[in-house]
This record gives sequence, C-alpha cells and structure tokens, in this order.
Amino acid sequence: MPGTRTAGARRTFCQSAAVFMALIWSLTLIGVWAASEKPAWAASRKSHDLAGTAPDTVRVLLFSKRRPTSVTLAKEKEGESAGKVRLTAVGNSVSVTQGSRGSQETRRRFQSGQGSWRVNFESGESALVDGSLEVTAARGVLRLVGTLALEDYVARTAASETLPGTPDAALQAQAVVARTYALSAHRQQRQRHPPDADLCDLAHCQVLSFDAAPEHLAAARRAAQATAGEVLRLKASGKLGAPLFHASCGGATSLASDVFDGRDDTGSAAVRDPGCTSSDTWSTEVSDADVAAVLRSVWGGNSSRGDASARSEPAASGQSGAESPENGAPALDRLQLIRDAGGRVIHIRHPESGRGLSGEAFVRRLGARIGYGRIPSAMFWVRRGASGKLILQGRGKGHGVGLCQRGASEMAASGSNYRQILQRYFPGAEGENNNDGG
Ligand SMILES: [Zn+2]
Repeated sequence: MPGTRTAGARRTFCQSAAVFMALIWSLTLIGVWAASEKPAWAASRKSHDLAGTAPDTVRVLLFSKRRPTSVTLAKEKEGESAGKVRLTAVGNSVSVTQGSRGSQETRRRFQSGQGSWRVNFESGESALVDGSLEVTAARGVLRLVGTLALEDYVARTAASETLPGTPDAALQAQAVVARTYALSAHRQQRQRHPPDADLCDLAHCQVLSFDAAPEHLAAARRAAQATAGEVLRLKASGKLGAPLFHASCGGATSLASDVFDGRDDTGSAAVRDPGCTSSDTWSTEVSDADVAAVLRSVWGGNSSRGDASARSEPAASGQSGAESPENGAPALDRLQLIRDAGGRVIHIRHPESGRGLSGEAFVRRLGARIGYGRIPSAMFWVRRGASGKLILQGRGKGHGVGLCQRGASEMAASGSNYRQILQRYFPGAEGENNNDGG
C-alpha cells in the first residue's frame, strides 16, 4: 500500500478549534438496492472452455508474515532424513546445506521436488506443505513460493478464512469464492506478487495458514470436494469473477464500486443483512491528532489548501483557516461523512476545499496508525465524547463487499444451500462447474 507511512508525521493539529462543532453531516447517496435477480445458476454442468486452460495448481507466496531467514525442509515420509535440507538467506542468495556430510553451496534459488514437505522454522514451529517449494532470498529474508494443488489451496484457504463450526453450506460457499478468486488472479495473468507468485498467503489475497484445527480443515476439505471445480462467472461479461468476502457486514453489504476505486468485477450487490445489525458492534475512542495525521497523509499539509477555486480568500498566503491553523486537517466531526443506503461511510469530504478520501481508505490508514482491531469497518458513526475525544461507534468487521460470512452462516443454519448463499451475495454472477463432463 503506497504512501501510508504516517508514523513520523508531525503532530501539529490544533484540537481546540473543533471542539464546539459536534455536527455530523450524513448524506445518503445511494438509494438503489439491487433487486435480487432470479437465480440463474447454470444448471448445465457441461464441459467448458475453462477446463482446457484452468490450472490445477496455484503458486502462493507462503509464510510471508514470518519473514524467515532460515528453514529446514524434510520430506514427510517414513521419517526419512535423506531429503533434509537447510536453507539460509545470505543477502539475495540461498545457502543450501544438505546430505549427511553437510555439503554446502550458495545458489540463486532452491527448487524442491514434489512431495509432502515439513518446513521447520527457527522458532521450533513447523508446517506441512504438499506440493513443491521454490526458495529464493531477498535482503536476508527467505521467499518461499509453494506450487500447491488448487483444491488443496481452496480447502486450506476456506479453513483459514472461517471460524471452526461454520456450517457446511457456508463453508462450501467460501470454497467457491476461494477457488474463483485464485483462478481469477491466475487466469487474468494479474500476477499480484511478481515475479513468481499468483497469490500471497495474507488478507491482501486470501489468508492461507497451515495451522487450522484438524476437524475444521477436514470440514473445509469436504466443502472443497462438494463444490470441486465450481467457480463464479460474471453474467455481464462472461468472465471469471473476482469475488470478495468479509467477516460481518454490520447490517448491509455495500457495492464494490462504492467501497473501492476502479471497476467492479466481483459480481456482488448491496444486500440487507438484518441479522448482522446487532452483531459485532464496536466503539473506539480516537484523538483528533490521529485523525488529522491520517487526513494529512492523504491530503498533504498547507500545500494543498486553496485547491477549491470557489474560495475567495487568498489561499496561498499561508493564512490559517478557522479549523486548522497549521495543516489544513479538520476534525472528523467537521467533515461530511457520505454513506451508502446501508449506512457504511463510503466517502469523507471536506466541503470547503472539496478534498476527500474513501471511507475504506480512511479506515485502513487509521487502523495502520491506532491498530486495525480498533476500527474494524467503515460502518461507523461519530460523536464527541465527554473527554473531548472522538468516539467512533460502529458495526461489522471488514470492508462489507461481497459475501458476508456471518450472514452466510445464518442462511446455512436456516437451511439454505451454498448456491442460494452465493446467489444472494453475488447476484451478478452465476455458478459454473468446469470439472464435470470434461
Ligand atoms: Zn451480514
């Protein structure tokens, strides 16, 4: 995420000027609720063009959060030690030590064969990876890219991204989403992690961990199997969708085009989820300085004042505005919070200057500053607390686009199947299975 560094920013925002203003503008921009289209799942489970080109493997950048400097790989079969190899990052090279005599050499990259590899970390923890591993190094950190069977990836991701106890139909819906997302990243040649990986193992793509509870992973494997090969294809273009999901919508999901910039290739819609209204409520106290720092990181300081041509006062003179003498960053309760029909803040606007940023960008940047757990979603309302600090009260967890996991679990618990769940959250897409008949 470029340009998010704010830690070193000066804290020069004047808090007192904004205290008396405790008014929140709240505009409703979008009143259009996409009426659910009739279910149009492709009943024809025919051989499709995808079958010829869909890869049955994906290349995933693994253990990226750990940033390992050294690992050992051991083939997990009958306790063999013959395949054991120690890999250590040395600058941009990999030191490879293997064999009983400990022969050592330095290489650009290490490529394992196919197998079940026990990856041991220096912490003593380990993970079992089925597939092959390609290991390189950059600036003293190992980069492990696993070539994994697609369905193994789907099951592990579905397990990693859901809670144990998630009902089967919700897990199955998650598996279809995981598969579609992986294939779409792969197929569209949008290598998000060049030069060698289609996906990473973090929330940036989809979380892939190797420590799911065995029963939960087993349930996810059954979900992958029950939906094997099934993907979401966009009705409008016929292309593979790039579906998104989140933990809890807070009462309504939002349009991808409202929450994120750029085109919407998710096939999702804004959907009411009444059951999510009372769940995952949260409250966070935030200082004006933190808000100002976030706004400054996006809008800049004095230099961007006066962009609004309608202003008649000499903006370039450096004279202070009423709200913010030093840096042009007004308090959150002096800004327009523009919401979609479901209540999510999709845009934050400074009326005087016309400057703005998306609600999601605000949440991400503020989360980076004060802790992501403290501002879980853009479905929030602002008031001035007795202490003088801002109080953000909100609902839900995540960006609110696409599949709501909480809502999906509720649907599953009341008897819906995975296709009904997917139809609800992705009315612009239809299911397609490229495995059958081919
Ligand atoms: Zn929901």
